[in-house]
Amino acid sequence: MSENRNEQNVVTTRCCIVGGGPAGIMLGFLLSRAGVEVIVLEKHTDFLRDFRGDTIHPSTLELLAELGLLDEFLTVPHQELRGVQVTFEGKTIPIADFAHLPTQCKFIAFMPQWDFLNFLSSKAKEFPTFNLFMQTEATDLLEENGNVVGVKATTSTGELAIKADLVVGTDGRHSVIREKAGLSVQDFGVPIDVLWMRIPKNPAIGEQSLGYVKSDKFMVLIDRHDYFQCGFLIPKGQFDAVKNRGLTALQADIRELAPFVGDYVAELDSWDKISLLTVKIDRLRQWYKPGLLCIGDAAHAMSPAGGVGVNLAIQDAVATVNQLTKSLQKGPVRIDELAQIQRRRMWPVRVIQSGQIAVHRRLINASTARATIIPSAFFWLLRHVPFLRRIPAYLVGIGPRPEHIRT
Ligand SMILES: Cc1cc2nc3c(=O)[nH]c(=O)nc-3n(C[C@H](O)[C@H](O)[C@H](O)COP(=O)(O)OP(=O)(O)OC[C@H]3O[C@@H](n4cnc5c(N)ncnc54)[C@H](O)[C@@H]3O)c2cc1C
Repeated sequence: MSENRNEQNVVTTRCCIVGGGPAGIMLGFLLSRAGVEVIVLEKHTDFLRDFRGDTIHPSTLELLAELGLLDEFLTVPHQELRGVQVTFEGKTIPIADFAHLPTQCKFIAFMPQWDFLNFLSSKAKEFPTFNLFMQTEATDLLEENGNVVGVKATTSTGELAIKADLVVGTDGRHSVIREKAGLSVQDFGVPIDVLWMRIPKNPAIGEQSLGYVKSDKFMVLIDRHDYFQCGFLIPKGQFDAVKNRGLTALQADIRELAPFVGDYVAELDSWDKISLLTVKIDRLRQWYKPGLLCIGDAAHAMSPAGGVGVNLAIQDAVATVNQLTKSLQKGPVRIDELAQIQRRRMWPVRVIQSGQIAVHRRLINASTARATIIPSAFFWLLRHVPFLRRIPAYLVGIGPRPEHIRT
């Protein structure tokens, strides 16, 4: 980086990555490891946010193994989920078994995402070509003759321009970069939103299911040692209606799904403790233009269904590095190289998003927003034919077209 925050506050680098989520930090780590100078912009002061998704998938753990970081990574406190079970109408049904995955780690590591991002960014900081600008929010693109040549950003001390041979938008599902680039978005519509909250946990409670379904209610509970991170599905746009029913009704719904939360649910005594997360599934028709590429949720916003968005974002980052490193080591990249990344990643994205759309349709009837009956034959099969649990395990744990470190 030309460390010339000069009078006009302009810095120059090879690759400017906008967004310090899983896609952006992994991309920054891998490019700087390959000697490419990067600046990663993250608008927040830290990674400490609740609403990101805590799942580190077997395929991501495999990448960490390929990078020689796995053993150290596994010393960071985490829980290991070796199978997924859902409690459906009170009956616990195993739906995925990771034991047979062709990876070193046959489990999903549950780790608060800020721990994962802190780990990866601390490793990246060991490379002199890695620069992370926290509290720096990209607000616009810099363009010259139809080429993106950098971004404008706001920092705690004023405006900053970052000039770069390549800008990568990894700024998530509300991406400013894709909006400013005018890239066209295909929106698939999702009939649900999620209420996101913490419920203190009785330490005596052992392992529980991840998902809970009962009549028209669906909930996910992520065990974070001393509390449950709870995701409670509501029909899209119905938060006001839920509020009108009152907190006691919501608490009762949660207790009905997971009676073991007990009186702890009463700690949800204010709507301030409950965040509304809007869920989307969308996809850019074209992920790039000259000087610019979008990956991760900025290119294809994922719903929480299956908990696979983080994995996909990381796989995008690896594919980007595998495709672009040689060019970026020298200078700008060609547009056909950017197109190649979209070609490679579009298929896995289509497969996973189609699966998520199907899950939403099956679980929630879009017109009445009431649960439809999930074919009990499907659950019967998973319950009685253990072999079949390998299929969801592969789709969630590895996913289509896994990427590997090549640089
Ligand atoms: C309710 C919910 C639960 C989910 N749970 C899971 C789960 O358990 N497992 C899973 O795999 N996936 C889950 N997902 C999906 C997952 O969160 C995303 O697919 C994944 O986070 C995408 O990663 P990303 O790096 O592309 O974007 P993000 O994780 O969204 O990261 C984007 C980053 O960019 C920063 N940023 C945004 N705008 C700017 C800007 N202008 N300038 C600078 N920085 C900016 C943000 O602060 C953020 O740090 C969930 C999604 C939802 C909605």
